[in-house]
Amino acid sequence: MQTKLSPEELKKRRHLRTAVYYQANKEKIKARAKIIGAEYRKNNPHKKRNKARAKIADAKYRNNNPNKTSIWKQNNPEKNRKHAKKYRELNKEKITSSQAKWRVVNKEKIRLYWQNRGKRKRTGTLTKGLVGKLLKIQNYQCIYCGLDLRINRYHIDHIMPLALGGLNIDKNIQLTCVLCNLKKGYKHPDTFKLSTASGSIPYL
Ligand SMILES: [Zn+2]
Repeated sequence: MQTKLSPEELKKRRHLRTAVYYQANKEKIKARAKIIGAEYRKNNPHKKRNKARAKIADAKYRNNNPNKTSIWKQNNPEKNRKHAKKYRELNKEKITSSQAKWRVVNKEKIRLYWQNRGKRKRTGTLTKGLVGKLLKIQNYQCIYCGLDLRINRYHIDHIMPLALGGLNIDKNIQLTCVLCNLKKGYKHPDTFKLSTASGSIPYL
């Protein structure tokens, strides 16, 4: 004996049947959709994706899914490189002209960059394997705040900044966490030590 199903139940059943059919024929359906789509685009060239609108939609999507693109890039480094390369090849002129524009607008920035580079000219060289040695000596901790440098990124810090005449030699190198290094900047090591609450002492 068959009981009469309510419209709701009928709807559910219909959906279920569609889902089962889709799962069983996924490849076939996808292939068909591809052909239909291509045909449609061929017959309706004027209906091509509206570029301006697509740009806004893409930006909106990225805004609403801030991590998705970067996660995808992290998980697909090969593909990302390929995409980037393809983009560069297809947009050579656009990139060159936008770089030229940037240079005109940021003349001052560029001048400062080269000036600072001049100041930071490195005197001396570091021995190979220095970082590994320093990590052990420092017990894998940031010299200033003690942050674990096995988990966090470290910066190679010149104890006496190059800008203040420090040398680029092993004895003048310590490892810090990124934040401490950025806070220290071009400060004299003693000045910076005084400004840190922990006041820890470089190993030298
Ligand atoms: Zn630190």
